[in-house]
Amino acid sequence: MPINKLTYEQLKADLGSHHVTLVAVSKTKSVPEIKELYDLGHRDFGENYEQELVDKQSRLPRDIRWHFIGHLQSNKVKKIAPFIHLVQSVDTLKLLKEINKQAEKNNRVIDCLLQVHIAQEETKFGLDEQELERLMGSDSKELQQLRSVTVCGLMGMASFTDDMDKVKAEFRYLKSVFDKFKQKHSTFDVLSMGMSADYSIAVGQGSTMVRIGSLIFGERN
Ligand SMILES: *Cc1c(COP(=O)(O)O)cnc(C)c1O
Repeated sequence: MPINKLTYEQLKADLGSHHVTLVAVSKTKSVPEIKELYDLGHRDFGENYEQELVDKQSRLPRDIRWHFIGHLQSNKVKKIAPFIHLVQSVDTLKLLKEINKQAEKNNRVIDCLLQVHIAQEETKFGLDEQELERLMGSDSKELQQLRSVTVCGLMGMASFTDDMDKVKAEFRYLKSVFDKFKQKHSTFDVLSMGMSADYSIAVGQGSTMVRIGSLIFGERN
């Protein structure tokens, strides 16, 4: 299926005026579809399965910035560590340690976001504020020892609902958590929130990065 070029150009202009980074979520989409967007100059792409990502990465230009946005198992980190640009979905210290270990092996520093649970659904992964506090807390010397990862901010997904007031409240909450941690952690500068259905609300609440799939590539099967 051809990509929605016009929608993409409008999104790019609109988000650009707000200094918001657009990550094109290309999960389930083919290499030619991704290449079509790449040829328009786009470089940030998001995937949520390690195998699919590794496969696509090997077949597409090297200057693509790949974002991992799905649930990542520790034993899968090794495969993506050589090239991943930003792991947006870190939800345990164990995973962060493994990313650090694999980054070190590849002589690089990997940027990460911590995924925060803001939606009502049980199915969505992520840390709650207490867990985040524990992980980022100043007494957690462990974090400082991880020299091959940089925690640059937070990611969150709002509830899947038509109730936009609820979505807005969830994003507002995530922004407040982000601001709180940003005061203490100078590396914090990315707040990834907003998808096809709710990105404008997210931008209104202070998002600096949105992850948009279906609006650009069309509905997934
Ligand atoms: C699939 C996905 C998106 C994009 O969803 P769309 O509704 O297609 O824009 C964004 N973020 C995450 C974490 C996803 O899994």
